[in-house]
Amino acid sequence: MSAAITRFGDLTYVAAEALSGDTVVLLPVGALEPHGPHAPLATDTLISLAVCDRALRMLGSREPAHAVVLPPVGYGVTHLSDAFAGSVSISAGVLQSLLSDICHSLERQGMRRRIIVNSHFEPEHVNALRAAAEETDTTLFDVTRRRLAERLTDEFRSGAAHAGRYETSILLATHPELVDGVAMGMLPSLPVDMPSHIAAGSPSFEAMGMHRAYCGSPAEASAAEGEATLDTLGTMLVELIHSVRQST
Ligand SMILES: [Zn+2]
Repeated sequence: MSAAITRFGDLTYVAAEALSGDTVVLLPVGALEPHGPHAPLATDTLISLAVCDRALRMLGSREPAHAVVLPPVGYGVTHLSDAFAGSVSISAGVLQSLLSDICHSLERQGMRRRIIVNSHFEPEHVNALRAAAEETDTTLFDVTRRRLAERLTDEFRSGAAHAGRYETSILLATHPELVDGVAMGMLPSLPVDMPSHIAAGSPSFEAMGMHRAYCGSPAEASAAEGEATLDTLGTMLVELIHSVRQST
């Protein structure tokens, strides 16, 4: 058994039993929905996993079993993109129940330090995560909170953070083979303040003018920006891991 194993699903039950109660368990959450004509449906799940991996790499191997990553929940609430092929949504209630069940199950095993790491920001989805986190006393890594959002890129803070420069850059850094570079390069910038549209009752990507399931500026994405963003996200998650470990 190597101390380097950081994926919970790779552990034997013997190794799981040996985890300290101080171990922080990370639960990556994403969605299955269109991310422009250039990026994969699982973009949000891939990003959540990449953030967890980056944080674990930053923690390093000095303190083995400091934190482990659960298999991701790759389905979320994606009603805004219902009209597009590949959008596979579950209801907010099911999502909340699923996450609550997972967290309660971990709690029964003494794994009291848990963080849900999310990268899909449809409000109904985020609200379900907040409810599940609250009812199970689990921490939510929520980059839509202003304190964290202000450390991220201009595009992210503008609310045009769907399959644009921000998300596409992270993918170029981690999964370049999954990005269609030709399609990406031809996409015109499309500034859309998604939170304002949603607050005003806009029911769909189409209604927000996102006819190709993206906004922002994917053509300006770069692996270098993705690396920098992952460093920021990883740093923020490490800070949260430390604070969760210090809590009683
Ligand atoms: Zn996304």
